[in-house]
Amino acid sequence: MSMSLTDAVKIPETVVEDVIRVRRDLHAHPELGFEEVRTAGIVAARLRTLGYEVREKVGRTGVVGIMRSGRPGRTVLLRADMDALPLTEESGVPFASREPGKMHACGHDGHVAILLGAADMLARLRDEVCGTLVLCFQPAEEGRGGAAAMIADGVLDEPHVDAVYGLHLWSEHLAGMVLTRPGPMMASSDTIEVTIIGRGGHGAQPHRTVDPILTAASVVQALQTVVSRRVDPLEPAVVTIGSLVSGTAHNVIPQTARLLGTVRTFDESLRNEMPKFIEDVVAGCCAAAGASYELDYRRVYGVTRNDAGEAAYVRSLAASLLGPQRVAEQPKIMGSEDFSFFLERCPGCFFFVGAGKPEESSPPHHSPQFTIDESALATGVQMMVALGLDAPRRPSPRNGRSPSGSRNGLP
Ligand SMILES: [Zn+2]
Ligand SMILES: [Zn+2]
Repeated sequence: MSMSLTDAVKIPETVVEDVIRVRRDLHAHPELGFEEVRTAGIVAARLRTLGYEVREKVGRTGVVGIMRSGRPGRTVLLRADMDALPLTEESGVPFASREPGKMHACGHDGHVAILLGAADMLARLRDEVCGTLVLCFQPAEEGRGGAAAMIADGVLDEPHVDAVYGLHLWSEHLAGMVLTRPGPMMASSDTIEVTIIGRGGHGAQPHRTVDPILTAASVVQALQTVVSRRVDPLEPAVVTIGSLVSGTAHNVIPQTARLLGTVRTFDESLRNEMPKFIEDVVAGCCAAAGASYELDYRRVYGVTRNDAGEAAYVRSLAASLLGPQRVAEQPKIMGSEDFSFFLERCPGCFFFVGAGKPEESSPPHHSPQFTIDESALATGVQMMVALGLDAPRRPSPRNGRSPSGSRNGLP
């Protein structure tokens, strides 16, 4: 590069202000998964203005911006997810959601604003870019697998992507920190839906019924023995029942009860065993009560597993830009991410950018009070610009050669 990477990723104040403006506008107008029409329109228009080749409706509401530098180098995908969550905002910020029942409570508004800010910077620095950049604005991360939809529509194939990077603003860490880890970082996430079918009747004559509520209660309790008694204690796993719905009146034993739950693991063979462990419990409890059941077990997201070399690269890149005191190893967490679909097909790294405020403990992601420290946005832009400039210069594992004087992320 003709200028140093550290100089290149100094983000002008006007760009930072624009990123904050875009984030607040998206925050006020949240859209749920696969409904991100307004957001996608803003993204596509902006990418076109900046001179990117734009593809719309990739994975339904996804948008892709491509920059082909014409210089040798890897094809690098940078990803931002765009969807909001179905809850009503109570954060009290002046740019709070104008849509009751919809809120950017995970920070994806910030992810879109960051990647658009990086798109702006990378367009200004076009003469420094090598290889090909694929800026990927993904729909429906929150449980609906927008990443898989974009992959099915070819986002990794045309052009063929060599490496993928994605970030998540994370309010548990102080704003400006960058954290990642090699190997597994976030858990797999699968869902269970159980309908317990009893026989309804009078609340005063339980002996003439099969009580699905009591059966459901024993299922909820007994499911906790899956993790405590069937899973290796050294292996992380979670079984949570998040919904139990049954009945309508004080004195009526209902016909059915319905349970919804989530199952988290890190180990693929354990992930494959969990459906049997869970069905054993459901079947046993129902048999004891004389009830029957229907069990729907769905594999949703796999483990988010970073390539070890790419994770080390992102750490060293962050340390060279921000200073080593702003970089740390991210512990494994039981949350999940559909960036895992990209990482299953392509080496890369998912990392967190701290977005917590120093003076207060930040409300958790997915809470109606969720907020971010907006100073994190500039850090996110810096990281994405640095990756856009430097990651294409890294040697491709396929040919083992450095395309054009890779500095391996070190200044
Ligand atoms: Zn989320
Ligand atoms: Zn999220």
